[in-house]
Amino acid sequence: MFDLTFLGTAATTPTLERGLPALLVGAPRHRFLIDCGEGTQRQLLRAGTGLRRLGHIFLTHAHLDHVLGLAGLIATLGLLDLRGGLTICGSEQTLRFVAQYLGAIWPAGRAPVPIGFAVLTPGVILEERDFSVCCFPVQHRGTESLGYRFNAAPRRHVDARRMAALGVLEGPIRGALARGEAVTLPDGRRIEPEAVLQPPSPGLSVAVIGDTEEVDTLVAPVAGADLLVIESTFMDADANLAAQRGHLTAGDAGRLAAGAGVGRLILTHLSGRYDPNAVRAEAAELFPNTCVADDFDKFAVTHPARSPASVDLPREDLLQGDGNPAPGV
Ligand SMILES: [Zn+2]
Ligand SMILES: [Zn+2]
Repeated sequence: MFDLTFLGTAATTPTLERGLPALLVGAPRHRFLIDCGEGTQRQLLRAGTGLRRLGHIFLTHAHLDHVLGLAGLIATLGLLDLRGGLTICGSEQTLRFVAQYLGAIWPAGRAPVPIGFAVLTPGVILEERDFSVCCFPVQHRGTESLGYRFNAAPRRHVDARRMAALGVLEGPIRGALARGEAVTLPDGRRIEPEAVLQPPSPGLSVAVIGDTEEVDTLVAPVAGADLLVIESTFMDADANLAAQRGHLTAGDAGRLAAGAGVGRLILTHLSGRYDPNAVRAEAAELFPNTCVADDFDKFAVTHPARSPASVDLPREDLLQGDGNPAPGV
C-alpha cells in the first residue's frame, strides 16, 4: 500500500553517510516527497527513483535543512524538460518563506516548471479512492510545523463461515461481495454484502513527523499507526541540549511510539555526534520494534496483515543505479 525511501537522514548538516532530510512516500498512483533538503535531487537519482512524477512536495517546516534542495530540484526538472509541475504544500508560514526564496531566483511566473503552492491547515488534505492524507500541527521552535499521516481506506473482510452458511461458493460471486456489491445466486437468492462482510477494520497507516520539541501533543495524531517516522536528533544524556534546540531525544521518540501504540518506529534526522546503534538502543528500551534509517533504506507497508505490518524490502531491491547495495541496510 505504502512504501518509503529515505533520501536524507541527517540532522541539520550533512555527513559523509547521510544527506539532508527528504523522504519519498509511494502510494497508489502517487509519489510524495516529504521535505527537500539540499542535495535531494542527487539522492533521488542514487536511490533509483528518478525525478519524474513527484507531483506534491509536503514540507514539515521552513528550516533550511528541510527546504534548500527545492531550487536545485526545480532547476533540474526544467533542464530535463520534465514539465509536469510541482505543488509545494505546507503551512502558511512555511510557504511564505519558500515563495520568497524561490521568488528571489525566479520572479513570479518565471520558474522553469509550473509551481503551485497549497497552504495546508490541519485535517484531511487529500482523499483518494484507496487512501487519504491528513496533516497535524507539530511544535518546533516557534515554527508552524506540520506532520503527515497516510491512511489506507478501511478494509472489510469476507466472513467465510457466513458465506458457507449461505451457500456462496468461491469465485466471482465471492469477489463481488468482497467489493461490496450485491449478487444474485444461481438459485435466485439475492445476497447483500452486509450479510457476509465483517465490520470495517482500519487500513494501514504511516505517520511522518519532521523536527519536534515535544511528543505529548503527538500521541493522538499518530495513535495506532503501523509505521511512525520521527526525528531523533539527541540522546537522553543531552536532554537539556535537545530542549534548548527544540528537538527530541531517542528516548522521547521511544516513549511516543510506546504511548501511541504504533507498530514500528523508524528514527531519522540523526546527529553525527552519536553511534546510530546507541540511538536505536535508547529508543528500543521503551519501544523494541525500533530501527534507525540510513540513506536509501526502503520500507514497505503492505496488506495482508502481517506482524509487524512493515517489512524491509529484499536486499536485491536495494541495489541502486551504481550497482552498489544501499549502505547500512
Ligand atoms: Zn531539521
Ligand atoms: Zn527544524
